[in-house]
Amino acid sequence: MQKENVIGSVDQGGFKIIHEGFEFARALIAVISAATALKSISNGAEYMKSRIAFGSPIAKFQGLQFQLADDVARMEAALTMGYRALWTYDQEQRHGKFSRFQVSREVAIAKLISTTWAFEAINDAMQWQGAYGYSKDCPPEEWALRGIRSFLLAEGSREVMKTIIARETLGREYIR
Ligand SMILES: Cc1cc2nc3c(=O)[nH]c(=O)nc-3n(C[C@H](O)[C@H](O)[C@H](O)COP(=O)(O)OP(=O)(O)OC[C@H]3O[C@@H](n4cnc5c(N)ncnc54)[C@H](O)[C@@H]3O)c2cc1C
Repeated sequence: MQKENVIGSVDQGGFKIIHEGFEFARALIAVISAATALKSISNGAEYMKSRIAFGSPIAKFQGLQFQLADDVARMEAALTMGYRALWTYDQEQRHGKFSRFQVSREVAIAKLISTTWAFEAINDAMQWQGAYGYSKDCPPEEWALRGIRSFLLAEGSREVMKTIIARETLGREYIR
């Protein structure tokens, strides 16, 4: 091993460094997912206002309004959780105010919730845009859905996030 290639110190801290990178990336993914979903919702809302069916803009149909309201509320909450996860990470890194496990828990909750809800919200936004939303003439939603889908795996899968949350709730002796 070449001395100049060592990151951190030998036999110490490599796993910690990798984990810190994972946690930062997971918190960023939570924020990115929420922001992407909010943009898709906004695209869908514009379409709803312009599309006339049964004599009125489809935005006036309560069934669609309620879906939109749920998606807006969830994604605003997810965005806040993403920022909270980043704040917790920052406090641990700079001031040692939280333990690594507390950071892992906050970040796992934010990533799990934000990616899961974002995927659903973008799928809803595509649905509001009917066949146009599915077509290749409407690439933003297709890219958003595929991009967010990757976040259910990348930087720790959805199942791994649940395992972390369960571990921090039940205790590590209950995790295989
Ligand atoms: C867009 C993208 C970018 C990526 N970037 C990187 C990168 O930069 N570097 C890198 O190293 N990797 C990267 N990955 C890989 C990513 O981390 C893995 O895809 C992910 O960890 C899942 O591993 P796997 O694909 O081998 O699935 P598998 O290990 O085969 O798992 C399949 C499924 O089983 C679930 N599963 C596995 N074990 C358990 C268990 N014990 N309990 C419950 N469920 C379980 C998994 O969550 C998953 O849903 C990336 C993946 C994607 C999609």
